[in-house]
Amino acid sequence: MTNPEATITDTEPGGRTGIVWFRRDLRVGDHPALSRALAECDRVRAVFVLDEPGLRPIGGASRWWLHGSLERLASDLADLGIPLEIRTGDSVAHLRDLARATGATRVYATARPGAAEREIDEAVREALAMVPGGISLRVSPPDLLVDPGLRTGEGRPYTVFTPFWRRAQDDLMRQPPRASLPVPAPARAPQTTNPDAFARALAALGLRPTAPDWAAGWEDLWNPGERCAHERLGDFLDEDLGDYPDLRDRPDRRVTSRLSPHLVFGEITVSHIWHAVDAHRRTHPGHGASFLSELGWREFAHYQLVHFPDLATLPWRPSFAGFPWPEPDPALIRAWQTGTTGIDLVDAGMNELWQTGTMHNRVRMVVASLLTKNLLQHWRVGEEWFWDTLVDADPAANPFNWQWVAGSGADAAPYFRIFNPELQRKKFDPNGEYVRRWVPQDELRPAPIVDLARSREAALAAYRAREETT
Ligand code: FAD
Repeated sequence: MTNPEATITDTEPGGRTGIVWFRRDLRVGDHPALSRALAECDRVRAVFVLDEPGLRPIGGASRWWLHGSLERLASDLADLGIPLEIRTGDSVAHLRDLARATGATRVYATARPGAAEREIDEAVREALAMVPGGISLRVSPPDLLVDPGLRTGEGRPYTVFTPFWRRAQDDLMRQPPRASLPVPAPARAPQTTNPDAFARALAALGLRPTAPDWAAGWEDLWNPGERCAHERLGDFLDEDLGDYPDLRDRPDRRVTSRLSPHLVFGEITVSHIWHAVDAHRRTHPGHGASFLSELGWREFAHYQLVHFPDLATLPWRPSFAGFPWPEPDPALIRAWQTGTTGIDLVDAGMNELWQTGTMHNRVRMVVASLLTKNLLQHWRVGEEWFWDTLVDADPAANPFNWQWVAGSGADAAPYFRIFNPELQRKKFDPNGEYVRRWVPQDELRPAPIVDLARSREAALAAYRAREETT
């Protein structure tokens, strides 16, 4: 079936060509920009640009994930008659060159809320407009449940989670997120893809480690890509959502959704998840509220990043600017990174992270508290390590949560909240299953690198001194 709009407005011989610029939206279903491109254009090309200057380079574990995600995306796009190209570096130059080479007159993309990303889009928009004949950049809304423009009654951005999420939920009841879009029909003028050439181009990026292959075995743990994201959601709703409120804090039980890397790479949309949970609740009353509230934290983190673009480098609370962080201590940092602190729950978490690219949320809080409070190392040290080692490393959620634990963030844990890893282990890993899974039992354990009680007092004194000087 031909699209009436395309037929009427088509001015290019042989039909219109459009480019879909994929970023953190690596899927073909529920993709407004892709659906729009296919509706408005006869021929569609796709491009992904890696390592755009001005953006924080993604870490090793994310690169591992990205490889799999691009592989699946290329195959799904090929089924729609859309070849995917991967380029590296300056997106302004790449988009302009590709548009010229293909004769495209429109570029489609999904908005990225970050400030640096928005600047890049503006530069691309300007560069494309300068091409003779003019090429337009058409940006669809970002995948968020809460509009970053939301303000309190006094017209200020929200700084506290509870009123933010209450208000967001009221708004979502009145105006639910847009309905999910199906996978679109193939292009009217399908283009052929050369899968071998694509595989070679992908391999040439070196996204997956070889020597040493620190990600050996991850193929059995993770399945990047849209299809697996939807399977994961389905399994989670059927099997674990009911237990989620009671067991989500238990690292020994695997009831959380494990959707975070799929969400970070946009293989599934948060609006689709919202609708799926909403539909599930109709047949399972009482389910879903606490899970949606975690998605609310994701919204809150993105909202804070929009309003405070320096979230990964500067304290969100200005009063923390002068916090007297001691000089970094390489031995302490190394012990923390390598899971050799001698503190069981912490070492288990750091080993889980290194071996799998993820860590349970409760344990993330405990290891972050140990680093920033008992060891008094700057939260940026931990944030950077997580950035490199997490498959779900996220430009909003990672710095947001590090600052939350350190006390310098929005609605943060108060400075006197210092997690006691021993009590946390007893409460959340009562049978020691999690620790046994991740800490080798046959090796001699190192003595604890820090006295938990004394370091707690020292941290409290440092944090209290800051309180008094502000
Ligand atoms: P579920 O419990 O199933 O939650 C569902 C979804 O809600 C998650 O997939 C995630 O998208 C979102 N979510 C849940 N908790 C949070 C939270 N506290 N903040 C923001 N979003 C949340 N999450 C990331 O996605 N990327 C990160 O880089 C990241 N870094 C973190 C660093 C620290 C120090 C801490 C304490 C937490 C961090 N988190 C991060 C939040 C949280 O740990 C993970 O989202 C969660 O463990 C992912 O597992 P899940 O998908 O099974 O979560």
